[in-house]
Amino acid sequence: MSFNVTILGTGAAVPTLKRGTTAQLVNCQQRSILIDCGEATQLQMRKFQVKFQNIQLVLISHLHGDHVFGLPGLISTMQLLGRTAPITIIGPKGIKEFLLSQFKLVGLYNGFPLNFTELVPQQEGLVFEDKCLEIKTFPLSHRIATHGYRIDEKPGNRRLDKEAFEKTGVSTSYINKLISGEDIEDNNGVVVHSEDVTYSPKPTKSYAFCSDTAYHPPIIEHLTDVDLLYHEATFIDKESERATDTFHSTAKQAATIALKANAKRLILGHFSARYKTMDAHLEEAQTIFERVFIPEDGEFFNV
Ligand SMILES: [Zn+2]
Repeated sequence: MSFNVTILGTGAAVPTLKRGTTAQLVNCQQRSILIDCGEATQLQMRKFQVKFQNIQLVLISHLHGDHVFGLPGLISTMQLLGRTAPITIIGPKGIKEFLLSQFKLVGLYNGFPLNFTELVPQQEGLVFEDKCLEIKTFPLSHRIATHGYRIDEKPGNRRLDKEAFEKTGVSTSYINKLISGEDIEDNNGVVVHSEDVTYSPKPTKSYAFCSDTAYHPPIIEHLTDVDLLYHEATFIDKESERATDTFHSTAKQAATIALKANAKRLILGHFSARYKTMDAHLEEAQTIFERVFIPEDGEFFNV
């Protein structure tokens, strides 16, 4: 099963022709999850050929415009195109009022069901779970209540050792039980132990999203051993004072979080429009953490 991320917007504050504001599309198992939705995210989705009607779950980090101004428009478009399937929206307290007040004023909304889960400031722990994945939240450090998210796959079925299974001579109708870990006995009294004819399940993967935030070491415990970490890096070291004042991070600080959390790979983002190239971000981050990536809008990562 696939687990991947498309970075739809890599810029901070305002959308530009080069960089959209924050939005990411995560596909995990059968789930299609949108994280944040800055202005014009629906155009980014069209540009990068992301199927937005498949989105079932939206995670919002905080109520700054560059993370939510695209959501009313996206939902409106989904409705105009005839969507009937529900969407679950998880985000800070106020996300429901933010959306519904606009829909009421423009007389728009009586379409598909929207299910809201509003988080309280500093909330941490499980916010969503199904048979394939779980999503936990943890508090970031920003000017308003801001929530990070971590998506972990759950272990799938064991994998069949075909050769060992065929040697047992039992019917293939027992395969489902065996790969789900059950031992079986067939009609002829042949006993087969699951462990003898299967391998352990495929290792699970994890993805974490941290934007917007000042350098904030308490998040490290929530990011331990994550396979792919997205951490904002609005600034470089030269602007570290400005980063502190505005509750944002530098590339070095993001890399320090990745190193201390033992993350496998790091994606930076939420770049200030003041930088003409991202060379300094890359260089500074790599002095601390080697496996770092500077994405362009539309870039795709396997987790
Ligand atoms: Zn913000």
